[in-house]
Amino acid sequence: MLAAMRDADDLFFDGVSQIRMPRWSSGRVALVGDAAYAPSFLTGQGTSLALVGAYMLAGSLADRDHAAGFAAYEHDTREFVTVNQGLVGEGGATLFPTTARALEQRNDRLRNLRAMPPAEGRPAHSALTLPEFMPMT
Ligand SMILES: Cc1cc2nc3c(=O)[nH]c(=O)nc-3n(C[C@H](O)[C@H](O)[C@H](O)COP(=O)(O)OP(=O)(O)OC[C@H]3O[C@@H](n4cnc5c(N)ncnc54)[C@H](O)[C@@H]3O)c2cc1C
Repeated sequence: MLAAMRDADDLFFDGVSQIRMPRWSSGRVALVGDAAYAPSFLTGQGTSLALVGAYMLAGSLADRDHAAGFAAYEHDTREFVTVNQGLVGEGGATLFPTTARALEQRNDRLRNLRAMPPAEGRPAHSALTLPEFMPMT
């Protein structure tokens, strides 16, 4: 593979990154999803963070002005994002083993996959209970 890589004229090489913004809004602009907190494929959950973030942003804006709504959105959602982005170490260890033994263990696990994953998921996945937002009357 290394030899072929040197001769290839269509090699694609990229890093794996997370987006971690110190703030999710400025003025009348707020970020949601990957733009604010892309977790990377090492954790999964990118779609969930984007959907939860959109729900929390919309609900937070429903009965407040934008400044208070943006602050509430970030306050109530950031912890959920942080714990899910924090899964990155575990994902890397699973996908990209760094020792021969870890590689062998990973391959054994994949070969022996016979059951569906547990319904509960990881604790980080359910670290936020979505609030019921009251529709404006
Ligand atoms: C290869 C791959 C595999 C993935 N697998 C998974 C997975 O298995 N599970 C999971 O949960 N997540 C996965 N993700 C991550 C997931 O796709 C993202 O986290 C999620 O799509 C983020 O949603 P978003 O709405 O924030 O951004 P996006 O889905 O990227 O949506 C942004 C939209 O904005 C549009 N846009 C950009 N610039 C402009 C502009 N100037 N004007 C108008 N529109 C614009 C784009 O065209 C796009 O449609 C994967 C991502 C990739 C790349």
